[in-house]
Parts: sequence; structure tokens; C-alpha cells
Amino acid sequence: MFFVGLTLRTDFRIFSSAFLIKMIVVPSRMGRINKRALLARLQQIGVASRADLAKSLGLSQPTSGKIVDQLLELGVIEEFEVPMWKAGATPAPVRRLGRPGRMLRLQQTAPRFLGVQLGVTETRLKMLPLGANGEDQWTVSVPTPSSAAEWQDELRRVAPQFRGQSLWGVLISVPGIVDEKEAKVIFSPNLHWTEQTSLPALVGKIWRVPVVLAQEERVLALGHQALVPGIRDFLLVDFGEGVGGAVVVAGKLFLHPLPMSGELGHTPVVGNQRSCGCGSVGCVETLISTRGLLQSFADATGAARPSWPELSAHVAAAGVVPWLAGTLDATAGVIAGALNVMGLRQVVITGSFSDLPPAVAGHLSAAIRRGALWARFGEVGVEFAPRRRTAGLVAVGLDRLVVPMAETERDQETLLHASAGRDGGAGGLI
Ligand SMILES: [Zn+2]
Repeated sequence: MFFVGLTLRTDFRIFSSAFLIKMIVVPSRMGRINKRALLARLQQIGVASRADLAKSLGLSQPTSGKIVDQLLELGVIEEFEVPMWKAGATPAPVRRLGRPGRMLRLQQTAPRFLGVQLGVTETRLKMLPLGANGEDQWTVSVPTPSSAAEWQDELRRVAPQFRGQSLWGVLISVPGIVDEKEAKVIFSPNLHWTEQTSLPALVGKIWRVPVVLAQEERVLALGHQALVPGIRDFLLVDFGEGVGGAVVVAGKLFLHPLPMSGELGHTPVVGNQRSCGCGSVGCVETLISTRGLLQSFADATGAARPSWPELSAHVAAAGVVPWLAGTLDATAGVIAGALNVMGLRQVVITGSFSDLPPAVAGHLSAAIRRGALWARFGEVGVEFAPRRRTAGLVAVGLDRLVVPMAETERDQETLLHASAGRDGGAGGLI
């Protein structure tokens, strides 16, 4: 009200326009930054009391309370009673209070988003409430065909299972080089047809709600960050049909103004003559992707069209055989190079390694540590984690649809995150 009154009563000529804009925009921008910090915090800790939420964000109780009330009204978060007999089983904030009370969490009852994972061979779908967390469990899976029209047909076929009045948007995880702002796939080595089509327009004809595209490794990094408290600097590398990565620095996704980063799968390996979907020869992805590993396994053993479980059984019996060791060493070299360039010392690996004997992960971890300069001074962490794509998609939805923010404001948010305390909160915002 203060700002409205000021602008109505005052002769505008005494203010420069820049001053006026600043006066009016700053409070709402700070409100958005605080809302975003609060939602990110709730996604990470799951459940919190009003008092603990305010404290962990470094906000006054009245400021935090106002944001909480607005988000409750919008149906973004919900308040629930924690019964006395359950208090011992609830998370730390409740125990510390020493008494039951009303707690807050992201809304869990009505699904707000439809999550879609456009994979190279399969497309998976699931309705997601804002409070979705944990590991990926998709409810429906359809084959990914080789054209936009056929893909639309597949989605249309299963669409009746994904109807809801409460739907706020469709969130699609896509591989390749993705311009998220323009919602366009620029280059996709394993799904070239996605380059020629507007996926949001195509999906928007089936579900008439906003459609958001997000690059798949970035989604995985956001999902990991959303569910692992305190992790602020890491390189995530995902192995599967393709290989790619994403970087989180000071709690924020590293994004280049041009929509390309984390593409370590297309780094060449000396002596590798395999052709890659990107048009080049010798990319590490052609060796370490599931298809690449199976091809090497077939070449080494003479097996015709071996399966992934057969490869796993072979490694369990024979150990990390020389062809596999060479591939793992080459992959580790690429990862260590990325760590050295970015100054990182924490790697999170998701995807196909979880199906292989632990010796494979052990070999890769040791080789990464050999190549990472941080290991000469201290610890280099290599963690094998489940894919948390659905949690990542929810983080994308909160970011892009629930409390969106202009690019110019994101810069400011990044600075605030970087300067926030090491307690994992966003202290000092106000
Ligand atoms: Zn390539």
C-alpha cells in the first residue's frame, strides 16, 4: 500500500523512471525469491513447522508467515496436524519442538503436474503432486517411436489415464541439447526427430495446460539436489542409452547462456573408431552407453546380441576384464577432466551402473580419483545414486510454473544463494 500511495500522490517528474521501477519491483522480487527459497527448502526437508521454516530461511516469522499463508491459499503447500502418538516417528523439527502441532509440507493430495520422460526407446508418464519425492516410479510406459506424429499418437492413446481438473502443467524431460527458454530441442544425437518439432505444441494439443521442456541431466541434478540436504556443489553424470552430465555450483544449476553444457558423452577417446549419433567418431558415449558396452561385450566374447543381465553375469564371474577396464578408464578421464575444469570434488553417478557388479563402480571411482586434482589435497567423493527424475521435474515445475522468475532476477537469486550461509538455508535474504 505504501508504494501505491506514494506513486499516486507524488509528482512523477521528481523521480527518474529507473528509481520508480526499482521502488515498485523490489518488494515483489524479494517476495518471489523468498517463496522460491521456502519451496526449495520444503522439498528438501519434507515437513516443517512454521517456526522452523522461518528460522532455517533466516526470515522473520511475520515475513515467513505471510508467504506461508499465500502458498496455502494457492494450494501449493498444505498444513496438517501431527498426532501425539506419531510425534516420535516424525522428522527432527517435530521432535525438537517436543510437542505435536500443525506442520507444513508441499501439497500431496491432488496431482498438479503430469511428468513425462521422453527416453530414447521408452516414454514414461506419471501424475505428480508437488510433494512427490523419493525414487522414480513411473506408472505408464509406451515405446518411443521414430516420428513426432507417432509419438503424439502414443500419448493420445494413454491420455485418458492422465486427466485431472487440478493439472497445472506438463513437465517433459528430454535428452539432447535443449533450449529450455525457447522450449526447443536444438540437437538430439539419439532422437533426431525431436529437433524438427515443437514438443510443447504437440503435447499442448492433448493436455491444454502449459508445457515445460527440461533437459534430462539437469532434471536429474535438480532431483538429487532437491532430496539430498546440504549438497551444493557436484557434477552429476548419468549413464544409460546416452551419457551426459549436469553441474550444480553453490546450490544452483550451472547454465551457459547458450543451452549447451555437461555434454561429456561426446568427448573423443583416442583409438576409438566407433561412429556416434552426433556425427563424430570416437565419442566416449559409444563405449560406455548400454549399447556401447553390449557391443564391446559381443566383440570380446563372440556372443550374438547379448543382454544386459548376461553382461552383468559375465562381469560378476570374470571381474573387470581388460576391454571393460579400458572403457572405464577412458570414461573416468573425461569425468576427472570436467571436475578439474569446474573445480569440483563431488561426483554423483546415476543410471545403468546400478545393475552391474560393485567391482565396476569401484574401478570407475578409483580411476576418477586418480585423475582429479582435488584428490591430491583431500577427498573426492564419488556417489552412486538412484535417478530422482520425478523429484527433479517437480523442482522444474515449482521453478517455471508455480513461482516463475525473469532471467534478470535469476542472476540476483544466484548471488543471494552464493552468499547464503553454509547451513543449507537461504539466510540473509531479508
Ligand atoms: Zn558423439
